[in-house]
Amino acid sequence: MDIAVLTIGDELLNGDQPDTNTAAIARSLGEEALVIREAACVRDREEEIAAALNRLAASHQAVIVTGGLGPTSDDRTARSAAKALGVPLSLDPTALRQIRERFQSWGRPMHARDEKQALLPARAAVLANPLGVAPGFHLRHPKGADLFFLPGVPAEMHAMLVGSVLPHLLAQHPRRPETAMQRLTVFGLAEPEVENRLEQAALPEKVSIAYTVEFPLVKVRLRAEGDAAQQLIDRAEVAARRALAEYLVALGDETLAAATARLLTTAGLTVALAESCTGGLIAKLLTDQPGASEFFERGAVTYANSAKTGWLKVPPPLLAKSGAVSAECARAMARGIRRAANTDLGLAVTGIAGPAGGSAEKPVGTVFLALATAEGEKVDEFLWRGDRGQIRLRSACTALDWLRREAIAHLTRNLDLD
Ligand code: ATP
Repeated sequence: MDIAVLTIGDELLNGDQPDTNTAAIARSLGEEALVIREAACVRDREEEIAAALNRLAASHQAVIVTGGLGPTSDDRTARSAAKALGVPLSLDPTALRQIRERFQSWGRPMHARDEKQALLPARAAVLANPLGVAPGFHLRHPKGADLFFLPGVPAEMHAMLVGSVLPHLLAQHPRRPETAMQRLTVFGLAEPEVENRLEQAALPEKVSIAYTVEFPLVKVRLRAEGDAAQQLIDRAEVAARRALAEYLVALGDETLAAATARLLTTAGLTVALAESCTGGLIAKLLTDQPGASEFFERGAVTYANSAKTGWLKVPPPLLAKSGAVSAECARAMARGIRRAANTDLGLAVTGIAGPAGGSAEKPVGTVFLALATAEGEKVDEFLWRGDRGQIRLRSACTALDWLRREAIAHLTRNLDLD
């Protein structure tokens, strides 16, 4: 089925707002084996929107449009659709009732301007908006294409895509080939190395592989079509697991932080953090996970030397001799937070995120990680490239990966004991 997406909004073309709707639509459609053939983006100009609608409707069976349905004067999508189809705009009673009910359910007064959102092209079928005010609508273009108009707000757009548009598209095209998909999240290998390993692994030929970088992670999507799609994906997953080994950190929609949280919980390990250059980012990523209190005891942001000596009991002579960014300090921080919190694991990070503060001996990007366990401490030094945000994020992800691997090692040791 030939589907196009049209996103509308000045902010999408002047750099103020990245277009995430096209990607979100592509992803949801992709899960149902529907593919976007073309994506276009236009400004909030009536003639430009109308022209894009007519052009896309002439060469596609369905066009999904987002943005410009709101109450303000720069929301011109309904008027442009009426113009494109040569039909009048009229106040749609169903749309008006839905808008009124939405304000009633929120207990908020409705502004006269909000009525504008019920002005729809003649013959439009209203699509309910379960999360917001602006209703969407469906129109059949004279050239035969189905046109779906959704709000720009990503959450509203997505709810209506799944609730109204997808059922319509799937009902029209029930005979789609079977498809199966798996997503792999890889950390610690560069994209070419991931590709290299998967090429060597000789995955089934009919499985297509797509790579994307979501810094600092590499995402791999495996996809197969046809009657044996799921078997092909199962075989590909087994081969990929072997090829990527410990660098494969998560499957499906799971994130690195979620996988780490799950494994720490399964292993029954508790964690405390002492963060310097990451400023609480590791704690944030871990406590984003529901149920984090199962394993997370505390996180200390110990930036100044006084915090490291006061809270973590890092000996002042050690700081004077080796400096705050050193293997010795990281080790003492990890040991100190583990002791203070009485947890199974104490993890510490100290480094120079830049842009200032580097030296010839310890350039910007120098980061030390330390993990204290009952057996002792492990410390490592890294030299990351990138800006402040990238250095902090890579450090935090490396810390999560250390915790993830420690949990796996713990579970493996227990297996050996059983
Ligand atoms: P509203 O009722 O909020 O006015 P609307 O349908 O008129 O909804 P817009 O005004 O175009 O939508 O956009 C609403 C919000 O959604 C804005 O913050 C806008 O930046 C964002 N948005 C619009 N289109 C996209 C897109 N393609 N990707 C990501 N965000 C978008």
